Amino acid sequence: MQPVVIIGGGIIGLCTAFALHQRGCSVMVIDAGPRERAASHVNAGWIVPTLAEPVPSPGLIATSLRWMLRSDSPLDLRPRLDPSFLRWTLHFWRHCNARDYLAGTEATAAFGACSLALYDAMREAGVQYEEHRDGLLFVYRAPAALEHDYAALEPIRRFGFDVSAPMDGAEIRTLEPSLAATVTGGYWLPQERSVRPDSLVRGLVDYLQERGIEVRQDTQVTGIETTGRLARAVFAGGQRIPAQAIVVAAGAWTPRLLKPLRVNVPIEAGKGYSIDLTPAPALPHPVSRPLYLHETRVAITPLDGMIRLAGTMELSGLNHDMRQERVTAIARSAGWAIHGWPHKMPTSGPGVQIWNGPRPMTPDGLPVIGWLPGYRNLIVASGHAMLGVTLAPATGDAVADLITAGRAPDVIAPFDPARFTKGERGDH
Ligand SMILES: Cc1cc2nc3c(=O)[nH]c(=O)nc-3n(C[C@H](O)[C@H](O)[C@H](O)COP(=O)(O)OP(=O)(O)OC[C@H]3O[C@@H](n4cnc5c(N)ncnc54)[C@H](O)[C@@H]3O)c2cc1C
Repeated sequence: MQPVVIIGGGIIGLCTAFALHQRGCSVMVIDAGPRERAASHVNAGWIVPTLAEPVPSPGLIATSLRWMLRSDSPLDLRPRLDPSFLRWTLHFWRHCNARDYLAGTEATAAFGACSLALYDAMREAGVQYEEHRDGLLFVYRAPAALEHDYAALEPIRRFGFDVSAPMDGAEIRTLEPSLAATVTGGYWLPQERSVRPDSLVRGLVDYLQERGIEVRQDTQVTGIETTGRLARAVFAGGQRIPAQAIVVAAGAWTPRLLKPLRVNVPIEAGKGYSIDLTPAPALPHPVSRPLYLHETRVAITPLDGMIRLAGTMELSGLNHDMRQERVTAIARSAGWAIHGWPHKMPTSGPGVQIWNGPRPMTPDGLPVIGWLPGYRNLIVASGHAMLGVTLAPATGDAVADLITAGRAPDVIAPFDPARFTKGERGDH
């Protein structure tokens, strides 16, 4: 039987392969590599179903315009004279309103509500990776920002996520003694988890390969062959590989693969950086749980024998350029929040590793999961922005249901690729 061919061996492609294998499908994964340039490698490793808010949000336009004036700010939007980028930006700004933000939050929360259970099922099936269950602590310098963000959690409470009461500075330091006196408060999401991202990707690849599934690495798919409404094969490594169905899970590279098919799936690369410090810097109190530093928008994840700092959203096209001012800003960002954090944290040298990778960003902040309009057996699974690790098992499940049962679960209706292609190629 011809396999379902999955293009992209990031966390979305691999979780999709896992779910299809669980349902007895023949499957093959093809990944261009190198692995450490994918978002699935460089991310903060948080499984955070509570953080369901889409990126476009009310007030973001004013904040981002302010941030654009500073080269070390958490957001860098580099305007380019490219019609698809200009369309994407206008579309993004149109979604920075309260109505779309609430609808997007609810859709993502409903979809991600099963994430922790699906991760448990993956572990029970035998996928091995480093995981920590220490919750996630949001910390603030400005009390008004804490109040604002805490109120914004209201719509997701009905999905059953646990959120602590707001804590003042003294309470939060009792929970996390590494925090400095400048932290005035925060809140804790006790059920959230964190993983070591490369161990998760490796664990899934190992699991699949041990069960005879072909995961071709360092092999780029150069084209998709179609006849009418059917996708027939992919071209990769000088070969034509026939497929019963094709899943495009190529993260920020997805539009490049779909361009020859003339279907519009608007995804921009939102480059993020991470810095691994091995071992973690010696501090009066080591960081004992994942932290989100609101003021500098940096994620800190303590892992076995190391600590990872991750942040920045750079909309500068699909590239891997290292911008030193961004790396330095992230490395020093913890200074205000962590007691004893080295003022001049080095950004190179022994024990320091820097990565960057592109988050796949849609203009409405929602993933794109479903049949590609105009095709009967071609699926897109991408656009997960800041939540790909969190939503990967749910995405894999939804795609596997689409392929094996032929119908889309209701929960992915808001993520239908057809929302971008109305009037272009007709329905599935
Ligand atoms: C700094 C940072 C921090 C983040 N933190 C978190 C977090 O804490 N929690 C969370 O849930 N999410 C987080 N994210 C987001 C998350 O990492 C992404 O949403 C997720 O990794 C996207 O996965 P993906 O599989 O779609 O894409 P990718 O990981 O980019 O994988 C796509 C793969 O497709 C391959 N590919 C591309 N083109 C081709 C081709 N032509 N042929 C074959 N293969 C191809 C690429 O080589 C790549 O391996 C973070 C992202 C960043 C950058």
